[in-house]
Amino acid sequence: MVTENLTPRGRFAPSPSGRMHFGNVFTAMMSWLSVKSRGGKWVLRIEDLDPQRSKQEHARMIEDDLLWLGLEWDEGGLDNIGDAAPYSQSLRGDIYEEYLERLRQTGLLYPCRCRRADILATQAPHRSDGRVVYAGTCRPVRLGGSAPDDAAVSGAALRLLVPDLEIAFADMVYGAQSANLAQECGDFIVRRADGAWAYQFAVVVDDALMGITEVVRGNDLLLSTAQQIYLCDLLGFHVPEYAHLPLICNAQGQRLSKRDSAMSMQELRRRYSPSELLGKLAFLAGLTPEYAPASLPDLLPVFRWPTPDDALKLGE
Ligand code: GLU
Repeated sequence: MVTENLTPRGRFAPSPSGRMHFGNVFTAMMSWLSVKSRGGKWVLRIEDLDPQRSKQEHARMIEDDLLWLGLEWDEGGLDNIGDAAPYSQSLRGDIYEEYLERLRQTGLLYPCRCRRADILATQAPHRSDGRVVYAGTCRPVRLGGSAPDDAAVSGAALRLLVPDLEIAFADMVYGAQSANLAQECGDFIVRRADGAWAYQFAVVVDDALMGITEVVRGNDLLLSTAQQIYLCDLLGFHVPEYAHLPLICNAQGQRLSKRDSAMSMQELRRRYSPSELLGKLAFLAGLTPEYAPASLPDLLPVFRWPTPDDALKLGE
């Protein structure tokens, strides 16, 4: 049977809060190779929801760094090429509003006025990993049916009630995954008190409207995936496939951040040519048996996902 989604569609969704680093371009390259090795399309979405940290000049640099490596996108970017425009989240508020309305119809949203300090104070004492689980302080006794009216909502964040059940998915790198949202994060925010859209909500709406069939990103977002699948189900969206990649560490074994200047694209472009850097990324991903400069066309036929064992070696 011919289905609409025969063409794989991937995306790269950087937050323009600084220059990309080795880990970001690793994700970008793997996502690009995955769809391009199957004749698919690649979308560049600018995740600039956070007005304080996002800058156009960073988005421009990200585009420049991707093009330097030859990672061209078919849709999106600052030029907004494609039918799902605009491709910058800061310009998509009306779209999010429309889908928030749909979510409201489920009767699972409620206003929340807890401050961060209140939430930390009501944390279950056993959570030692630093993750905050919302205790449900503002959750109404009876939910369902009536959606919160505007008066109740203004100045409040909007939270989504989560079920106490496992959400399972098959990750293309890490295999079978499951998470119980009630235990792992609790009811989560879809719109903040200041009106800013939550990443989880915006990503789900964008991936669906941009026809994304596979999401490739760092494994720090594995738990977000269960939240996003839950949102997809509530909004009636098709759930994409997921590949989470191990986070690359620096020489001290710490996760790379935008502050690691040695691994930033500025430094990498000074030290390597595009084919040298692609060769390094490909060798690290296990696509080539030894390090050698490589072009993207060289890598297309050898593309595969790292195995969970490779992922361990890459440094978790
Ligand atoms: N914008 C996120 C980041 O830069 C990526 C989100 C995603 O790929 O879903 O880390």
